[in-house]
Amino acid sequence: KDSRQIESGLFPRKVVPVLLPMPAERAYSYALPDGADAVPGQIVQVPLGPRLVAGVVWDGEADVVNPDKLREITQVFDCPPLNAPMRRFIDWVASYTLSSPGLVARMALRAPAAFDPEPLIEALQLTDQQPERITAARERVLAQAADGLAWTKSGLAHAAGVSASVIDGLREQGVFAPVMLPPQPVVPAPDPDYDPAELEADQLAAAQVLRETVAAGGFGVTLLDGVTGSGKTEVYFEAIAETIRQGKQVLILLPEIALTNAFLDRFHNRFGARPAEWHSELAPRTREKVWRQVTESRVSVVAGARSALFLPFADLGLIIVDEEHDPAYKQEDRVFYNARDMAVVRARLSDIPVVLASATPSIESRVNAAQGRYSHLVLSGRYADAGLPDIELVDLRRHAPARGGFLSPVLIKAMAGTLERGEQSLLFLNRRGYAPLTLCRVCGHRFECPQCSSWLVEHRFRSQLQCHHCGHNEPTPQACPSCGALDHLVACGPGIERIAEEADKHFPDARTIVLSSDMAGGTRRLRIELEAIAKGEADIVIGTQLVAKGHNFPLMTLVGVVDADLGLSNGDPRAAERTYQLLSQVTGRAGRSGRKSHGLIQTFQPHHPVMQAFASGDPHAFYERETDERRMAVLPPFGRLASVIISAATRPEAEAHARGLRAAAPSSAGIMVLGPAEAPLALIRGRHRFRLLVHGARGNDMQGFVKDMLAKGPKQRGSVQVQVDIDPQSF
Ligand code: ADP
Ligand code: ZN
Repeated sequence: KDSRQIESGLFPRKVVPVLLPMPAERAYSYALPDGADAVPGQIVQVPLGPRLVAGVVWDGEADVVNPDKLREITQVFDCPPLNAPMRRFIDWVASYTLSSPGLVARMALRAPAAFDPEPLIEALQLTDQQPERITAARERVLAQAADGLAWTKSGLAHAAGVSASVIDGLREQGVFAPVMLPPQPVVPAPDPDYDPAELEADQLAAAQVLRETVAAGGFGVTLLDGVTGSGKTEVYFEAIAETIRQGKQVLILLPEIALTNAFLDRFHNRFGARPAEWHSELAPRTREKVWRQVTESRVSVVAGARSALFLPFADLGLIIVDEEHDPAYKQEDRVFYNARDMAVVRARLSDIPVVLASATPSIESRVNAAQGRYSHLVLSGRYADAGLPDIELVDLRRHAPARGGFLSPVLIKAMAGTLERGEQSLLFLNRRGYAPLTLCRVCGHRFECPQCSSWLVEHRFRSQLQCHHCGHNEPTPQACPSCGALDHLVACGPGIERIAEEADKHFPDARTIVLSSDMAGGTRRLRIELEAIAKGEADIVIGTQLVAKGHNFPLMTLVGVVDADLGLSNGDPRAAERTYQLLSQVTGRAGRSGRKSHGLIQTFQPHHPVMQAFASGDPHAFYERETDERRMAVLPPFGRLASVIISAATRPEAEAHARGLRAAAPSSAGIMVLGPAEAPLALIRGRHRFRLLVHGARGNDMQGFVKDMLAKGPKQRGSVQVQVDIDPQSF
């Protein structure tokens, strides 16, 4: 065990390093109280300044500190220690993302109240003692408890249909004795053999490979690749079943967990119990319970958002990353990480298999599969031969919408036909609100966020102008603030509210649901609406990418993409890939129950390679071209990037610091620094932003280079902040 003895006062004391959940580069040294012991991974409470905080006893030697300053651990929690793979994972993520290990550890510890054991539950068990007098009520109680199991008082009273006082009476006579039971699990144990699906031939083959992979154990990555509706979920359920049979834990990562009630129900149908959930909207008490029970191996399957990757599983046996290509896996706050990539790392450090599932795998994962680093399982068609939707490009130059509208006559006609058949249409536009830009017709004034370089988006339902970057909002005025002209403000371009208005005009009797992440009522309301859609209680659904993900709407047969060009114009090399993924995901909502279905893609660029590839239904040529372009430009996954964002309260401060860093960049044959240039959003929340882009071929030590540059560069002064993003999403 790593600890050392140092002399302090009269007695030698054991000193251990303790990692605290805060941005510190190293673990701090603390003394163990006399007689106490703590192994690495143990969660302890220590004094820090005037406060008490929870930390983790870390590996390695404690730093030598002045014995007079040495403070003592105040409590060793009765809680399973973080195991060695988990500790290695925290260290690894910290060094890869250039974050402090303390900040990474904080993601693993996020539930302070969970460190104390859950209280035992008092229950009652029948003894040999006979009751003094038998009544009808007592008889029912005795019959109920005759199985010899322990019952809680309220449970037994309820089951026997008597009042609690009847049981109190029996207890006083010694007919029942109290026993203490462990606390209830947050979810009942899933049963791997509860109700397996009958798999089709190619599902069966894939499931067999996965079962063998799990049975063999050890690290390995499998890319499970199949169009939307091909039955990937049923396939990876078999890998999960096998892991449960081995008595090990499973982590399922999903990009939008809060909205995936349908997924949890499916899991329930297959395994007879729901998985435990882990996401930001859990109630704190539930969160503590889940955390604790995961560390105690009492929860065997967790379905969670990216943050679930940092749960300290006691005995993790398998990780599934569903929709592995999804940008929601990237966290861009404090610790910048991609949960898909870190899931592979966690699997490697734990020596367990990981499955990446997607209908449109990322180029990174495709290349890894092609080069043999990942095994590749392909499901080629939809389950039960349900056809994919017919895709048609609608050239907006030839099929122009009516003046002031955004829906082409072709799309409106298709919607009318869908309505007549009693089926559902989805209009997809990845833009919240009513209009992305408002201007004054008299003087040309444009409404811009006072703290960001972005236009204010009109939200007509709320009569507000909103900034989508900082949340700034103001009531929509009647008069132009610049020239004072009354009632001359015009909305430019569409948001989903405006599309809803247009759809209403054409189909006033249709039942329309508008869905976006900023809807009143939050996640709860969204879940209700999604269920309503699945039950066929809507004719037209209008939504942002929220509706594109994972849902199963049996009656949906038409998907209209209002503006397919939206993501293509931002100059990001990933733009075409992302557009392909989004188009395929959103049109994949149609025709899942086997009905004939259509996707209408409105575009001004029908000849763009991504539109052509998508319409042809054959992505191979497109992906090959994209991959070649990345290879030629040495972009990920053939090259590596790091983005360094420098922000400050004033533009000159930010720019000067960025230039200073640039000048401090070490000279390296394989790595170069581009910039500084204004960051893609040059102003956010009143902070001016510059960006350095560090670019090198694969195999270069990007982290070492960036660290060097930061160390040699100017000291961070005043309002300056520097954020490093290794493997940025957009570049
Ligand atoms: P994916 O995850 O590839 O999009 P899903 O696993 O969601 O596909 O399957 C699509 C639909 O087909 C779901 O409604 C699912 O319940 C159904 N399905 C898939 N495989 C089977 C099977 N073997 N037996 C019964 N239903 C299946
Ligand atoms: Zn703003």
